[in-house]
Amino acid sequence: MKRRHFIKKASVSGVGIALAGTALSCKDESSEENTHEAIASTPIRASLPLVIATWNVMEATAKAWDVLQNGGNALDAVEQGCMVEEINENNQTVGKGGFPDRDGNVTLDACIMDMNGNCGSVVYLQNITHAVSVARKVMEDTPHVMLAGEGAKQFAISSGFEPEDLLTEASKKAWEKWKVESEYKPIINIENHDTIGMLAMDKNGNISGACTTSGLAYKMGGRVGDSPIIGSGLFVDNEIGACTATGLGEEVVKTVGSFLVVELMRQGRSPQQACEEAIGRIVNKPNSNYKNFQVGYIAVNKQGETGSYSIHEHFSITKYHDGKNENIKSDFYIKT
Ligand code: ASP
Repeated sequence: MKRRHFIKKASVSGVGIALAGTALSCKDESSEENTHEAIASTPIRASLPLVIATWNVMEATAKAWDVLQNGGNALDAVEQGCMVEEINENNQTVGKGGFPDRDGNVTLDACIMDMNGNCGSVVYLQNITHAVSVARKVMEDTPHVMLAGEGAKQFAISSGFEPEDLLTEASKKAWEKWKVESEYKPIINIENHDTIGMLAMDKNGNISGACTTSGLAYKMGGRVGDSPIIGSGLFVDNEIGACTATGLGEEVVKTVGSFLVVELMRQGRSPQQACEEAIGRIVNKPNSNYKNFQVGYIAVNKQGETGSYSIHEHFSITKYHDGKNENIKSDFYIKT
């Protein structure tokens, strides 16, 4: 069965799927072509362009907005937006100056996805600040989706990226303090964040996304989280919408979080409802330890509506829309 026919059947079979106000709800059910037309003509409710990102990253969203205003596409916008945080040494969860693993090595994970469903990813990348750009190169210049470790680094160098030491004095000091004071307990500190996931919609309503991180601070050597895993840390379907994640990557991977959010939007949920339901999948697992870790999602649908939700408080999104750059507090599951 073709994908769209399956979706149509799922939509009308009523397996708990809401239909109101969505791209799919207004389509003609009679043919696949009509389905595509209906999606293409989905009314865009937001003014475009639009950029949203995890956490308080106003300079990054401003950069992305600038790219879009100057005729750049959504892919350029998310790449260049994320690069702002990768080079920002004060952000110790991304790029240069990111917290190292427990052996003192800074290893980066990133991915990017365009409006045509193409994607690229790097995992366990060392010595290259702009992991998101290497991920884009993987997407555009290789027949592969994901490169890891030494291979990813060699590919980056051969593509013109300069290798450098990513461990700054500040992050080295923090790691040395952690070594003395801590037992190994890789539960993400609810305050230790700023991994950047960014989604952009250009003036034509086309969506791209990117996600970049140094991962969980003081992780085991070799540990990879959700951020470079397409479907977990990021997923874009230009007909439906996009989602990106932050927080404890293991929990996002176990529920294929970003793909789940996009699929829920496909079935009729608003971005807000989809993010809430995906968080629900994590907290409602038997014996979930959710009180001790953070996960947050942000999403946008094809109409330009946005949503966000996290387990704990202290999650915010930065949204550049209608010419305004705003850091907005997100809603969360644990109300105290
Ligand atoms: N999701 C990232 C990871 O698990 C970390 C974060 O978002 O803070 O590697």
